[in-house]
Amino acid sequence: MFRRIWFICGLIYTASSSYAAIDIVFDYTYDTVNWFGNEQRYILDQAAYAFESRLGGESFASANPADYAGVTSNYYLYASNPTDGSSLSIQLGSTTAEGNLVGAADTVTIFMGVGAASGSTNAWASGQFLSTHGVDNTSSSDKFKEYLDNVRDSNTNYDTIGGTISVNSSRAWYFDTDLTDYDYSTGKMDFYSTMVHEIGHLMGFRKGGISGDAGTDAWVQNFNTGNNTWTGAQGMAAYGGNPIPMDSGGSHFDYNDFNQSHTSCNCHPSMDPYSSVNQRSPWTETDFAVLKDIGYIVSASPSGPGSNNANTFTDTSLQARGTSPLPVREDYATWIAANPDSGSGGFVTTGSAAPEPAYIFTLMGGLLAFLGGRKNLGKIKTLLRIA
Ligand SMILES: [Zn+2]
Repeated sequence: MFRRIWFICGLIYTASSSYAAIDIVFDYTYDTVNWFGNEQRYILDQAAYAFESRLGGESFASANPADYAGVTSNYYLYASNPTDGSSLSIQLGSTTAEGNLVGAADTVTIFMGVGAASGSTNAWASGQFLSTHGVDNTSSSDKFKEYLDNVRDSNTNYDTIGGTISVNSSRAWYFDTDLTDYDYSTGKMDFYSTMVHEIGHLMGFRKGGISGDAGTDAWVQNFNTGNNTWTGAQGMAAYGGNPIPMDSGGSHFDYNDFNQSHTSCNCHPSMDPYSSVNQRSPWTETDFAVLKDIGYIVSASPSGPGSNNANTFTDTSLQARGTSPLPVREDYATWIAANPDSGSGGFVTTGSAAPEPAYIFTLMGGLLAFLGGRKNLGKIKTLLRIA
């Protein structure tokens, strides 16, 4: 009996000891059709590692109201249900059907699903934890409200809690679990690249989505609404000292005006609003620069247990997009050995509807698949103007 208890404790210790300061956890509670199998979950975990491996110096305090004094009301993660698109209010401090505490310290919780994203949308992400921004320096007897307003979403810092990602299940996705290589001839959309992009939105790469709300406090501080450019110091430094052109929605770099030669890595960013088949776009230094501007502590290079931390992925696709690190925490066989059961999912009731529409950010694609090939780049840009 004694030995058994220690065995269990050992397992718990192993599961909770984190190689990085920030742990991005995927929760499949809303995946009612069990679309996410081992390949999808493995690739998601590696996409998360692109962030985790650079956030070893970052930490988030608890976003569980139970850990604070004077709390007088409930607080929620507002998002859209990734399966049916309905409004979700996921209570901070609640535990999901899969056992994940929403708002745990040093943790980002992302709820996955398919069904709501459709048509030309590859995938979308949604999620926010304050219904309004611009309320820094709130002094309140509710210390959790004070924490959210003044620390978690301040003028100099944004620390995500998580959100939802809906994947368009009708898309022909590239699911190869060898992330050190890429086959540019399949005519499929890269699942890894798309997931990195959507996680990026949830980390905080987004403007406001609610009418009249310019965005999170830190975003507003670095965004020039006069000419739609990113003027944060880190972003500009990564872009040759220039403001970075943003698209009209403000949550992506501008597809047409972004000049790749301005980047020190000569790499095409993940955060432009379009993607095409036969293309892989890892998370780049330019993308990280924006996260640094909104307060994330990002290390200079990947660190952690990954055997492929130094892997540099050379993207020779559609636009000769340059080179970027693509750290891989573990290969698929190692991951399978550690995750023998992908789980069955299930639906959880999450309470009342969100009081406001949640932010939704999309990554479009697929319609331009027939135009694959670098010589058609000009034509694609013309079409994208119309799209
Ligand atoms: Zn996007």
